[in-house]
Amino acid sequence: MTEIITEIKKENRGKEILKDKTIGIIGYGNQGKSQALNMRDSGLNVIIGNPRDSYLEDAVRDGFNVYNIEDACKKSDVIFILIPDEIQKEVFESKILPNLKEGDTIVMASGYNYFYGFLKPPEEINVMMIAPRMIGWGLRDLYQKNKGFPILAGIGNDHSGNSSDVLLGLCDALGVFKESGCAIMSSFREETLVDLLSEQSWAGAILFIFRKYFEVATELGASPEAAILEMYASGELAEIAESMKEFGLFRQLKTHSRTSQYGQLTRGPEYAGEEIKQLMKKNALNILNGTFAREWTNEQLTEEIVFRKLHEINQEHPMEAAEIKLYKLLGRDMDD
Ligand code: NDP
Repeated sequence: MTEIITEIKKENRGKEILKDKTIGIIGYGNQGKSQALNMRDSGLNVIIGNPRDSYLEDAVRDGFNVYNIEDACKKSDVIFILIPDEIQKEVFESKILPNLKEGDTIVMASGYNYFYGFLKPPEEINVMMIAPRMIGWGLRDLYQKNKGFPILAGIGNDHSGNSSDVLLGLCDALGVFKESGCAIMSSFREETLVDLLSEQSWAGAILFIFRKYFEVATELGASPEAAILEMYASGELAEIAESMKEFGLFRQLKTHSRTSQYGQLTRGPEYAGEEIKQLMKKNALNILNGTFAREWTNEQLTEEIVFRKLHEINQEHPMEAAEIKLYKLLGRDMDD
């Protein structure tokens, strides 16, 4: 049975352990900024490690002491690695690893690099994962509203023997346990699987199903604008997602007309047959056995040629030009 923690029931030993520690946030981007501000507001001693550029200026403006990554690691006991996953291995090996001391704790916000062994902290370093199911500004916004948020938490290596207390203390300082928040006790493997499988199944599929919808609707005489508005541009899709969050996947159907409900319940399953499950299983196994990670690493080593070309090719579809026209009409800034 999965352990889901919504509050710290016993005394908060992590808080006691962390009160004399320095928390170093490496990277002041999406997650780094929000996590740093939340933990500082909760009373922890937080410093920032970042190269000298606009992110650094932002951290200075927010009143943090900012150092280069090497010095921040030397000064810290708990080090959050909050830079993009693709560059973590290089930055970890060149700037973080040489500056760790026995008993330090590394915290990652995703399972990817540790699960695949791209980041290999030595045995005398504690390793944990606090992976928010939320974008950075969202967890800052909720903290300020005195609300919590969900995270997947895990321990990769417990050298000091007190990692669960430290993990819960950090979650508490981040604001996880405020109203409606929770920590799902998980693992680097599980986080990698559920995260990548989402991206590689329904999230990717929806983009290409929308393309097919556009083609069929316009071939049968619908205007491109009507088709695009119907799918996502009107904002109805975002409202449905919000209803799923509030009421549940199928319970939210009650917010649709009965005609819509009947159509969804009878035709929907035709698009999600057993062969789709087989395909999903194949992609899931390729996530777990490292086939996808190897492919993506090779792609990055070869100037991301396929990645760039796929972006280019997808701009050529007639739906793109129609979208630009519609968004201009609606006064939307697509570059934002
Ligand atoms: P960002 O892209 O926002 O990270 C930007 C930060 O990384 C900046 O401080 C930037 O500084 C620094 N950075 C970029 N390149 C380098 C480099 N070569 N060397 C050193 N620092 C660098 O990252 P995210 O916040 O999106 O992601 C951080 C972690 O959080 C990842 O593990 C991600 O999987 C996880 N995560 C992200 C979520 C999200 O909503 N984005 C959600 C949940 C988890 P500079 O430009 O100065 O180099």
